[in-house]
Amino acid sequence: MQNETMVDVQGLVKSYGSHTAVKGVQFQVKKGEIFGLLGPNGAGKTTTIEMLVGLRKPDEGTATLAGFDVKKEVNKVKEVIGVQLQSTSLFELLKVEEILHLYASFYPRNINIDTLIEDMLLTEKRKDRIKGLSGGQKQRLAIALALIHDPEIVFLDEPTTGLDPQARRTLWDIVLRLKEQGKTILLSTHYMDEAHVLCDRIGIMDQGELIALDTPTNLVKKLHSTSTIEFHLNNPPEQEWFLKMEAVEKVSIKDTFVQLYTDNLQQALTSLIQLSTEHNLKIEDLQTRLATLEDVFITMTGRSIRES
Ligand code: ATP
Repeated sequence: MQNETMVDVQGLVKSYGSHTAVKGVQFQVKKGEIFGLLGPNGAGKTTTIEMLVGLRKPDEGTATLAGFDVKKEVNKVKEVIGVQLQSTSLFELLKVEEILHLYASFYPRNINIDTLIEDMLLTEKRKDRIKGLSGGQKQRLAIALALIHDPEIVFLDEPTTGLDPQARRTLWDIVLRLKEQGKTILLSTHYMDEAHVLCDRIGIMDQGELIALDTPTNLVKKLHSTSTIEFHLNNPPEQEWFLKMEAVEKVSIKDTFVQLYTDNLQQALTSLIQLSTEHNLKIEDLQTRLATLEDVFITMTGRSIRES
């Protein structure tokens, strides 16, 4: 059933001492969806995932995975989930196929290991020791280990952090193939492009809260600004000055870097050039581009995901 809710999270809260890392997050993920938690470091993504997979006990709230309660039905939950964590440490001296057989022995039900090795593009490395693998290969092995018992729901915590662009793209293909196989995937990331390419829906997290939740396209649409004009200006005037310009919806200024958000690029550019000529402003490095998820985060929080 495609519309079946596989992940149902209701008001999860978790504090470390006096610091509340997750402040009542709430979301659902349907069967076969890729759902992304997108946010800067420290937003609470890992803590949320750890509560769902049974590694941390929520202070408040409830969650079910494939209908099983994460607090009360821990063993059932373990059967239906596969987990790749940021800190997965593998037995470095084992060979790739050895660790897969070892993990397979932990479960009553397994998928075919040869197929898994092929799917994770590890065929040439199957007889190599783990310590000799590249970052991308280790990450693919970690995902293989998460899939060995053929789980319905797969958790991937920042699966491409630290990987080079080529290795990231390879991993994206693997995640998309898992979706094709009908898996439900919950992943966390602080890469906007990754969230955009992979996720059917995204929950944007900041400081322990889900501040927005929608499809990538709708999140950008809700900005009411399809384009961004960016430039540098020595001593830029206050935001209000730019907001008086025709067709400019929002403004962000960081030192000399100015971003104007607009739904009418031509009109906004015309008034920018007119006004800058009138006031003798020296605009440098002018660029225009389509709005992205990064712009959604900036307009909602006033900060960039990368600088948070
Ligand atoms: P990252 O991408 O850096 O892992 P995140 O969004 O996954 O970020 P969390 O790791 O969940 O965020 O951390 C949320 C907040 O809780 C941060 O302020 C972090 O410092 C704090 N935190 C996380 N784990 C612990 C812990 N074991 N003890 C105390 N504080 C913690």
